[in-house]
Amino acid sequence: MNQHAVDKKHALQCLVDILVKDGLVTPDYITGLINREQQSATYLGQGIAIPHGTPQSREFILETGIRLAHFPEGIIWDGENRIYLAVVIAAKSDEHLQVLQILTRALMHDVSEQVKNAKQPEQIIEILQAQPLSLTLHENLIQTEIESQDIEDLFWSASQILKKHNFVKCGFLSSLDPDQVIQLQDQIWSISSSKFVQQPAISIVKPRHALELGEKKLNTLVCIAANEQLDSQRFNRLIDILFNPEQVAQLDQTQAPNEIAKIIGADVIPDWPHRSVVLANAHGLHARPATHLVNLTKSAVDDGNFVSAKSLTRLLALGCKRGQTLRFIAEPETDAVEALDKVILAVQQGLGEEVEPIQSSDIKIEQSSEIPSHSKPLSSNTGIAASSGLAFGPVHVIKPKVYQYERMGLSVKVEKEKLDIALHAVKNNIHQVIAKSEVAEIKQIFQAHLEMLDDPDLINGVYQKINLNLSAPAAWHEHIEAAAKEQAALPDRLLAERATDLRDIGDRVLAQLCGEVIIEEPKEPYILIMYDVGPSDVARLNKDRVAGILTAVGGASAHSAIVARALGIPAIVGAGDQVLDIEQKSSLLINGDTGAFILNPNAQQIEQAKQERELQKKIREEAERHSQEPAITLDQHQIEIAANLGKVQATAHAIECGAEAIGLLRTELVFMAHSSAPSEATQEADYRIVLDALAGRPLVVRTLDVGGDKPLPYLPIAEEENPFLGLRGIRLTLRQPELLRQQLIALLKAADDRPLRIMFPMIGRVEEWRAAKAILDEVNAVHPCTNLQVGIMIEVPSAALLAPILAKEVDFFSIGTNDLTQYTLAIDRGHPILSAEADGLHPSILQLIDQTVKAAHKYGKWVGICGELAADPKAVPILMGLEVDELSMSPNSIPLVKAQIRTLNYSQAQVLAKRALECDSATAVRQLSEQEM
Ligand code: PEP
Ligand code: MG
Repeated sequence: MNQHAVDKKHALQCLVDILVKDGLVTPDYITGLINREQQSATYLGQGIAIPHGTPQSREFILETGIRLAHFPEGIIWDGENRIYLAVVIAAKSDEHLQVLQILTRALMHDVSEQVKNAKQPEQIIEILQAQPLSLTLHENLIQTEIESQDIEDLFWSASQILKKHNFVKCGFLSSLDPDQVIQLQDQIWSISSSKFVQQPAISIVKPRHALELGEKKLNTLVCIAANEQLDSQRFNRLIDILFNPEQVAQLDQTQAPNEIAKIIGADVIPDWPHRSVVLANAHGLHARPATHLVNLTKSAVDDGNFVSAKSLTRLLALGCKRGQTLRFIAEPETDAVEALDKVILAVQQGLGEEVEPIQSSDIKIEQSSEIPSHSKPLSSNTGIAASSGLAFGPVHVIKPKVYQYERMGLSVKVEKEKLDIALHAVKNNIHQVIAKSEVAEIKQIFQAHLEMLDDPDLINGVYQKINLNLSAPAAWHEHIEAAAKEQAALPDRLLAERATDLRDIGDRVLAQLCGEVIIEEPKEPYILIMYDVGPSDVARLNKDRVAGILTAVGGASAHSAIVARALGIPAIVGAGDQVLDIEQKSSLLINGDTGAFILNPNAQQIEQAKQERELQKKIREEAERHSQEPAITLDQHQIEIAANLGKVQATAHAIECGAEAIGLLRTELVFMAHSSAPSEATQEADYRIVLDALAGRPLVVRTLDVGGDKPLPYLPIAEEENPFLGLRGIRLTLRQPELLRQQLIALLKAADDRPLRIMFPMIGRVEEWRAAKAILDEVNAVHPCTNLQVGIMIEVPSAALLAPILAKEVDFFSIGTNDLTQYTLAIDRGHPILSAEADGLHPSILQLIDQTVKAAHKYGKWVGICGELAADPKAVPILMGLEVDELSMSPNSIPLVKAQIRTLNYSQAQVLAKRALECDSATAVRQLSEQEM
């Protein structure tokens, strides 16, 4: 506070002196500040400037930080604008963009006078942390027929309503001054105060009989609780209404709060039957009783500001305490009306918990759930950040299906008729899909489904079960499931694959029989909410339709996250089962960088997100402009940047993103794009697509890595207790050598002497590597390929530990940090609770990487990293410092990683890596990386 400077230059020097004194920069940083001002002035608006150095001056920064300096006399900053506050930034990378974003919130308000007159640092902080604008106008804040003798009675009622809903605090009433009432129109008067206001809101009270105010009369009092967060637009709209003679006449005539709310454009409570009950549970409405309530009210509807009693998340977000009153409303003319009494009784009885009877002293002032209370954000949650970016849109929830039906039928005739009607409806539906689809493959699949539905054997099998008095859905489900199991067990893969189709049509008909509504996708881009998104969903996800993904389970290196990243769709995974309870029509804002998501965000939050997205877009566009240039550090060390690929057609996109090679072709994903096992010729054609598009750049292909969390429908694996520790990757293909052989032949034939590198997944023992290599040698003898290297993935700790031996025999290693982390830390990479702790920057994994690189380099072999760690900004300098030769990642990550590398110093990265190896935890490594780079 209280800084003085004669002009801008002097002020900049004053700022640098502060930074130097605090050990953030060296004195040379002044040149960076001066140069930046010459390029573009840093005046932000509202008397605030944000001076910061040029990228070249980052070398003078010792530690990232910001300092705020208050110049009460003001300094002319860019010709005409005067500043009173300088927010000076010393940022080693682009942190200042975040600061800028926070400040833009303050700029939405007219704060320059406040900034100028501030006396204490706290005042400045408060101004900068401006709250979003708001104004609550709600039917619940309207009260009529009040028995009042004078204006003070009305003041009491008006402020009581606002206090009850936490919009004002004690003291608000005494701040209302009878001399300050203002006549708006006729008998409508207003009073306002900004003291003791927590959040802007307006209550409206009407006396039973008009009050005399001197010569005039009052029949309506508008009580305005306003502070600097007041949403002036909404306020002005209300004032316009209150000055409109026609609407004022209507207001004069009514005492019905609902009508008043409609006239003034306030939020209204639907006029539905309702009952209230006091909650008696000792710990409030926590998960267990709330679940009980959800189960009781499954068919409730959700509307606007009301909380659906069937939504667990929204019930929990209310944070209801013992003694509070819950009001339940039921949609008229539905079963819900009858259920009201049942629900009230259940709440009184404790919703499955033992409860102490409620005493009148326990009863809190009624906190209605109908107005979203500002003191508890409705729903603000987090999951694991999985794919960067912000997305906003309506939600589309796909829940695991549970069908409910009676096992025994009504009569054989009725059940057979039901089945026939359902079959007819499903077939009609499929005909429509075929007619609309433009993709030949999809048409074929559905044509096959039609044929199955016409199969007389299948229908007769179901009829026989109905003849035994089973209901149509029970008979259908049992017969289809038995048939699917039989089919899946067939040794011929082509035939076995039909099991999936059987289950698919089984589901459709069952849904029809149980009256399950198939929920249509929203028309505009939506946020897809699913239990999990598996690799096989890739083909189904349309990037133009799916704006973002939120899943209940999964971790950052689970395949669901990899799929999202590959598609460039912002995603949050592992957010918990309750996300499946989010209502279909709600809207959602997700931040794939932080893992935070907001249900039904307000306009302010959306606007803020849009601004952030704009900033990210700019940073990205800048990086994309240089994506074709190599990744060379400041001290001239180059590292190869390659792309991970799951779809052969995406090769061109990878190159556009700046890929210098394909560092990992996940061939199991290539297989998944086919509805049946691809033949050798089909595979060869697929691999040619990649090699052709690469135009001479190297291709690293991994042989099939099926198993674990990547099942292949037409390659059935017997159920295992621990699939990640079972028949996976090379363990599976060595047991089906024909499959491996066929894939290797297809690869060698496609190569045409172009640079092909083949690697085997999940190698844990030397014998596995040698057995796989022997098969490749055999194949290579028949289909020679001159430009071939053969390597292994290092993703099992035993392989990393045996690297000194393996390095003698292989041509290269590619470290799969996703699995290496999973197996080293013994945490399932998709574990809903633990996977967030499976951090590849754990020093134990860094030790294994270090050992692998040292062993490889001793024998002149190269090492790449193809796990998700390769694109993690905190990991990039450390992996580089550990001397890996190549980083392979999702194509969309390439431009930003290349841009980051260009700001790094290789020799510093080596020092950093050495220190990281000595850390005791992943958190310590992350902190170190943050501080040092
Ligand atoms: C890995 O494990 O790091 C890897 C790249 O392979 P995937 O993620 O396909 O298992
Ligand atoms: Mg792996």
